[in-house]
Amino acid sequence: MTMRPLGIDPGQCFIGGRWVPCESGSSLDLLNPSDGSTLCAIARGNALDIDKAVIAAQGALVSDWGRLVNFERGRLLAKIGQLVLEQLETLAELEALDVGKPLKQARADVIALARYMEFYAGAADKIHGATIPYLDGYTVYTLREPHGVTGHIIPWNYPMQIIGRSVGAALAMGNACVLKPAEDACLTALAFAQIADDAGLPAGALNVVPGLGAEAGAALTAHPGVHHISFTGSVGVGKLIQSEAGANVVPVTLELGGKSPQLVFEDADVDSALPFLTNAGIQNAGQTCSASSRILVHRSRFDEVVNGMAAHYRALRAGPAMQDLDVGPLVSHRQKEIVEGFLSKGDDLEIAATGQIIAVAPSGGAYVAPTLFADVAADHTLAQEEIFGPVQVVIPFESEEEAVAIANGTPYGLVASVWSQSGARQMRLAKRLRAGQIFLNNYGAGGGVELPFGGSGLSGHGREKGFEALYGFSTLKTVAALHG
Ligand code: ADP
Repeated sequence: MTMRPLGIDPGQCFIGGRWVPCESGSSLDLLNPSDGSTLCAIARGNALDIDKAVIAAQGALVSDWGRLVNFERGRLLAKIGQLVLEQLETLAELEALDVGKPLKQARADVIALARYMEFYAGAADKIHGATIPYLDGYTVYTLREPHGVTGHIIPWNYPMQIIGRSVGAALAMGNACVLKPAEDACLTALAFAQIADDAGLPAGALNVVPGLGAEAGAALTAHPGVHHISFTGSVGVGKLIQSEAGANVVPVTLELGGKSPQLVFEDADVDSALPFLTNAGIQNAGQTCSASSRILVHRSRFDEVVNGMAAHYRALRAGPAMQDLDVGPLVSHRQKEIVEGFLSKGDDLEIAATGQIIAVAPSGGAYVAPTLFADVAADHTLAQEEIFGPVQVVIPFESEEEAVAIANGTPYGLVASVWSQSGARQMRLAKRLRAGQIFLNNYGAGGGVELPFGGSGLSGHGREKGFEALYGFSTLKTVAALHG
């Protein structure tokens, strides 16, 4: 595939409706994680490019973009969604090459991006203020308004889905966006900017500045012209962003990952659970914020679950993204080293099963064999820390009380699921488990355009996806009129 698909120029920034070179004049190599080759050079944007992008966004707010009424913004988003679907294969191939995810998973991401556009297209004119009964002689009402310029700093694992949920909701509410994609994978962010432009999005409503986190990302966070930051990524950078944005008293939405558990009780339908238990851990090679990396199993079903998962693991094949196997490479050799570092901390553990890296996988690729550990203590490093690789641990429990304590016993709180036939237990645990999303007899890593998503503790705060995101990407003004 040409590296200039869809009319994008991967070596430039997209600012004010145009492709422009970055101010530094320097570039970064974008690598193909399936074989280690260089895909293309991308712009190394810095504070000067971010400043230009913020100025372009400010301009959009007071011109064509700012003048559009809600339903017109909705129509534009619908059109963008349609064009995204028309480019399904091209976008999927770009994402597969760039991120290393198998083609079928990349296709699912394109469809999710289109669904976000459709969802927020439909929602754009359905959010409104309220009238509030007040003192005699007053009329009071609220207006739901955009923040203004919103900054979006996104990671490399699901670029299209995260653009959909954050940029989609922000545009629906009338904000103008500056997007800083990840240096490890940014091609679909650039492609999305071109598609939005083709759909007729007014200049400056969406600007994309690729570059390093410490340069372009930090400049976006600290820019005084930015009114809201949404960040998805690591805990360490999330903390930094919250404190940097705090200097300008700018609100942040943080989605920082997790150590999400699935709880399998003695009365669970294990056959139904098994595909979810494994897939939620190995999808996107485990590089998913909402991956389920801890499987908690009642002692009475422990062997059955471990044996069932082990059989799935032994059938897993890892290889180049374009071969569309079960698992691709990790996004980079840096990420591979991080995951291998965790694996070496599991030397004391029993490996229940591994998947296989296919024999013809290129030696330059960042492959890690999916690995399942059984009978792991709840306080083991591998059961406590986010690994972000195709690794799961199975932890036994004896009682519901113990299961809840283990499930809530990490600093994270993003997603949890309960496998049990008991309705009372499902309702009880839905309240007691600390997570922003609870699944009962299913697990939905990554999906769910309509479902509010976000965490607590080290998983972050704020909610994206669904209708709820529209509140986060807008602000409320109260108008009180004294008319007698
Ligand atoms: P990972 O470690 O998985 O790559 P990061 O949290 O480092 O995740 O990266 C997520 C996003 O945050 C990327 O777009 C990256 O460039 C950006 N980023 C990294 N460091 C900073 C920073 N200091 N300020 C703002 N953005 C940053």
